[in-house]
Amino acid sequence: MTVPIADLAPFFGLRPAPSATRPRDPRPGISGLTPDEAVAWAGEHGLPAYRARQVLDAVWRGRQASFGEVRTLPAAVRDQLEEAFRFDTAGEAEVRLADGGLTEKGVHRLSDGLLVESVLMHYPARTESRERHSLCVSSQAGCAVGCPFCATGELGMERDLETAEIVDQVRHAQRRLAADGRHLTHVVFMGMGEPLMNLDRVLGAIEALRDPARFGLGARHITVSTSGVVPGIRRLTALAPQITLAISLHAARNALRDVLVPLNRRWPVEEVVAAAREYAAATGRRVTYELTMIDAINDTDADADALAELLRGDLAHVNLIPMNQVAHTPWTGSPLPVVERFADRLRAAGVATTIRFNRGTEVGAACGQLAAEHAGRPAPAVVQRRRERIVAQSAAALRGERSQEPAPEPAGGEEGS
Ligand code: SF4
Repeated sequence: MTVPIADLAPFFGLRPAPSATRPRDPRPGISGLTPDEAVAWAGEHGLPAYRARQVLDAVWRGRQASFGEVRTLPAAVRDQLEEAFRFDTAGEAEVRLADGGLTEKGVHRLSDGLLVESVLMHYPARTESRERHSLCVSSQAGCAVGCPFCATGELGMERDLETAEIVDQVRHAQRRLAADGRHLTHVVFMGMGEPLMNLDRVLGAIEALRDPARFGLGARHITVSTSGVVPGIRRLTALAPQITLAISLHAARNALRDVLVPLNRRWPVEEVVAAAREYAAATGRRVTYELTMIDAINDTDADADALAELLRGDLAHVNLIPMNQVAHTPWTGSPLPVVERFADRLRAAGVATTIRFNRGTEVGAACGQLAAEHAGRPAPAVVQRRRERIVAQSAAALRGERSQEPAPEPAGGEEGS
């Protein structure tokens, strides 16, 4: 495969400048249209309102992959649509199966050549629960936050996804499921990117997913995960959309969290948890806290006790997830007995805790890993420099020293405010 130079650019610096590989297709994605906008477009083109309904049905319920296949519409209308909109803004470049077919990892190529990932996870029915099919979607190409254990963070920030580029990942998964008579039951904004740094587009996607005239998913089946963009959490609280809020916490102590989640230098952990608490109080919804467990970094008794102290009495649930190996870090995931001991300490302190495992380890489970693989691998010397930097930062953090480095800035200036 020929790799565009721009795809390789992220590997030659720590935080590369945005590097779109070719101009973006200026036509908006049809799935970004609200029903009112579709009716307005039909009216402007001299079409009756029922044509708008047919278009939305084809987009949201049909199995077609292009306007040309929508045979309920006259050829002239199909041509008009093709000229004005893109039917699909997130074409699937590859789908890899893992976990005996229970995990499907998709790589989507955007119109400018950038790559994003989605992960479809199947959970068979059990005595106590029905069958579930959950999709983890990306909200940005790359990410500005730069968590060192994350492959996306190492790619650097490229750009925010459009609403259509987010929901088209969902449409792809739904088309694959529908081929077997199944239906997507959950959507999780936990793929590439920080959703609350692209909050307007993410809210547009949530609206499309919730709208019975479009995807029709219950709000409680949607989760938004953030690394701690406090103004964005407050904005979600004000809107009270009844979605599940997940916080990528990773550490309860500020010095360590400054390194593991660099956004902590801007919004320290107490502020993040206070904002999450307000969300729980306003919505009555339990907040999920995610911890990627890294061997001898954030998995000690002292870390467990600090977390228990932070969340004591809160409407909260903690998920502990052993880290997946990513090339640019010297770290490994915590051994299972250590994770179990950590979980036991939290439970003893009254904090509800579950141990989870990343799906799809054989196909690059870590967020951004597959997209990075498509883009090419960094030179060994670059990996070595990053490893040394991470070791130095975490050694200082473990001595309790707060980071003096600046906090990451959102690409487009949006912080969900
Ligand atoms: S873990 Fe999430 S917030 Fe952190 S760099 Fe990766 S994608 Fe961004």
